[in-house]
Amino acid sequence: MSASTPKKNYPFTSATALAQALGAIDEVTQAVVPPIHVATTYLRGKDNSYPTGNVYSRADNPSYKPVEALLRQLEQGQEALLFSSGMAAATAVFQGLRPGDHVLAPKVMYWALRNWLLNFATDWGLRIEFIDMTSVDVVAGHLRTNETKLVWLETPGNPLWCVSDIKAIAAAAHNAGAQVAVDSTCATPLLTQPLTLGADIVMHSATKYLNGHSDIIAGALIGANNDAYWQRIRNVRSQGGAVPSPHDAAQLLRGMRTMHLRVRESCHNAQFIAEQLAQHEAVAEVLYPGLPDFAGHDIAKRQMQGGFGGMLSVRLKGGASAAIHVAANTRLWKRATSLGGVESLIEHRASVEGEGTPCPDDLLRMSCGIEDRQELLADFLQALPAD
Ligand SMILES: *Cc1c(COP(=O)(O)O)cnc(C)c1O
Repeated sequence: MSASTPKKNYPFTSATALAQALGAIDEVTQAVVPPIHVATTYLRGKDNSYPTGNVYSRADNPSYKPVEALLRQLEQGQEALLFSSGMAAATAVFQGLRPGDHVLAPKVMYWALRNWLLNFATDWGLRIEFIDMTSVDVVAGHLRTNETKLVWLETPGNPLWCVSDIKAIAAAAHNAGAQVAVDSTCATPLLTQPLTLGADIVMHSATKYLNGHSDIIAGALIGANNDAYWQRIRNVRSQGGAVPSPHDAAQLLRGMRTMHLRVRESCHNAQFIAEQLAQHEAVAEVLYPGLPDFAGHDIAKRQMQGGFGGMLSVRLKGGASAAIHVAANTRLWKRATSLGGVESLIEHRASVEGEGTPCPDDLLRMSCGIEDRQELLADFLQALPAD
């Protein structure tokens, strides 16, 4: 992966920014790792003000600042907020809207968020349409000027890895007066920077590639502007308290320091496994943006740098039973949900998503970790049912 070009506020590449966590040194102790602030409450000054801006840890905590600064740098945003989970971050974006607001969301998207939108957001009066986000024309056709307040994208989108053209959709959305938020969890801040393509908000499940070790739950939003909408979103977090523990924030910063190395390996592994499995006789189709004949490949090539991500899905000719057989018989690929960790995971996704899923039942979702790619491939192949 090519390191990103240096940016003005921190004149080094994303590799250097990550490894050094922007290079900050603790002023009090000269520590090269920021301290963890466990206090829940902070002293007022005699003039009744809060001299450091810190008040109470339900709203904010100084341990988040180094992570938020790094995310702002990587995504080239003005604002960043850590949350207690990716879902807490994503739902804050919708909770910042008002009853009656019209929203466009993808047909193919992270299942738990789609469920939340259907089960909660619609009850609170959001008017949400789930549409094909791989077509700019379809998006343009559904935008309602001054009624559509938000276009939610996820690219590459779970679990079919559909690719959306962020730049073209952002231009169309802005024309209609709507903001654009992108769930960029699978693209990571290294492969795509949605704000530089015109998006207004980027969301990450920091549980995944940012932390990378499957040992904390956290989320993040990065904003292009500190506008009224962003302030409402910040208040959703601060007033509702959807904040991570300070220890988790510190662990997240440690995980992020190697993200560029992990993401590079995951991308290499995914590209290799996708290419190998695409040629295998037991495989009906490999869904991966890095394959030249994949539907979204051309847009992905423009909008992703350094790789096409660590996620792919494989459809088996033997149908659901073959897919479940493979998941049952891999040894290296761990049969578990989630993604973005150093260990490779495999999942029969239709079993997780249940009724109404766009996910075919012959599909296995695979999160490529950083193990040896030949061993990962051999493990998958030995798990195929004998015919
Ligand atoms: C995991 C995930 C989420 C939700 O994040 P949590 O941290 O599990 O709450 C949202 N979007 C995508 C694409 C994810 O993979």
